[in-house]
Amino acid sequence: MSFEKINLIKPIQKALAEEGYSVPTPIQKQAIPIILERKDLLGCAQTGTGKTAAFALPILQILHDEKRSSHEKRIIHSLIITPTRELAIQIGDSFTAYGKHTGLKNMVVFGGVPQKSQTDKLKSGIDILIATPGRLLDLMNQNFIDLRHIKLFVLDEADRMLDMGFINDIKKIIAKLPSKRQSLFFSATMPAEIVKLANTILISPVKVEITPEQPTVEAIKQSIYYVAKSDKKALLIHLLKDPAIASALVFTRTKHGADNVAKVLNKAKIHAEAIHGDKAQNTRQRALNNFKSRQIKVLVATDIAARGIDIDELSHVINFDIPNVPETYVHRIGRTGRAGLSGVAISLCDSEEKAYLKDIHKLISIPIPVVENHPYVLTEWVWENSKQLINKEDVKKPKNRKILETAASKPKSRNRSRRKSWAKKGRS
Ligand code: AMP
Repeated sequence: MSFEKINLIKPIQKALAEEGYSVPTPIQKQAIPIILERKDLLGCAQTGTGKTAAFALPILQILHDEKRSSHEKRIIHSLIITPTRELAIQIGDSFTAYGKHTGLKNMVVFGGVPQKSQTDKLKSGIDILIATPGRLLDLMNQNFIDLRHIKLFVLDEADRMLDMGFINDIKKIIAKLPSKRQSLFFSATMPAEIVKLANTILISPVKVEITPEQPTVEAIKQSIYYVAKSDKKALLIHLLKDPAIASALVFTRTKHGADNVAKVLNKAKIHAEAIHGDKAQNTRQRALNNFKSRQIKVLVATDIAARGIDIDELSHVINFDIPNVPETYVHRIGRTGRAGLSGVAISLCDSEEKAYLKDIHKLISIPIPVVENHPYVLTEWVWENSKQLINKEDVKKPKNRKILETAASKPKSRNRSRRKSWAKKGRS
């Protein structure tokens, strides 16, 4: 099915061809006709499914069809709220690219930067506003933004909004929207709290749920390295020295952790930068641009900072820490393998993180292969697995028994000897 078949107008089709899009993704096929029929929509879609275009294209079309005469001032007719600055910028870029032949103007507002250039642009008149909740409320309170004429409202990444504590901000924003409007609600997951929020925003919505033909996690080559916490940095350096890794997005749980990992990598002559919520917006954007243009090999990020990142052809994602929320694992590894590309996701797991891994396995319901042969293998893991092997096989294979018993009773020395043999082979 082509974009023409889902009744997109010529100026939009032209822009899509210029972007190199030839067929709509499943969420676009389903959502675009519903939105063009002016119905509310509840979209449950994972990252990387093409959901930005799924709402941006029909919004552009609806507003383009309403034809504003050239002497009329532009007023904000569509509002998209999204949790992170990076995501807001990306959505803005998408509207600009898809809407470049429509004559519609969009702008992005987010915090962490002076407001002057944003308020100047607002005064000049825009049709579509993309915003993060905090700055939006700020500018509304100062009367720079008037939401009374909103016809199309989008709440993007609703689950993440809630995680980030934006629920009250969202309620305040919704209270200022006209009751007669079309609302589109997107979330990667639909826990009860999200459904409750959706019910307060949407009227008789059509539900669209995308389970990709090949779910993101299955398209990605995943692996686990069991490693002691104290050896994680050394293992990361070892992995990143592999020339097969052209660039990697490394996730840490904390901001401090992200800074620390970036520092250690740079010391090891692996160019890395960290992005997280404590960094100034322009520093984050610069790091992101350096990573996209391959000037740095590694971007170290916290989950919140990385949520909005869309990097074409990102080959490797490395979980330096295992996330304690299993859905976060799916979001993280979904940074690679986007739009049908395959990718590699490596997870470094220490003994305290095994429980998190169990939850992840439950969620994705496919086993993640363990890499046993590496220079920093976790002693405990060797020991546990040896014990299991002994229980099952020692009776049958007395020869193995001796080797395995040695491993089980002397975990440290085995670990050290493994490292030595790696060092000898020149692989560490
Ligand atoms: P999203 O889920 O909106 O973040 O989109 C994921 C990626 O897919 C982005 O890099 C988009 O540029 C790309 N994309 C979206 N729609 C299409 C399409 N119909 N054909 C090819 N790529 C697309």
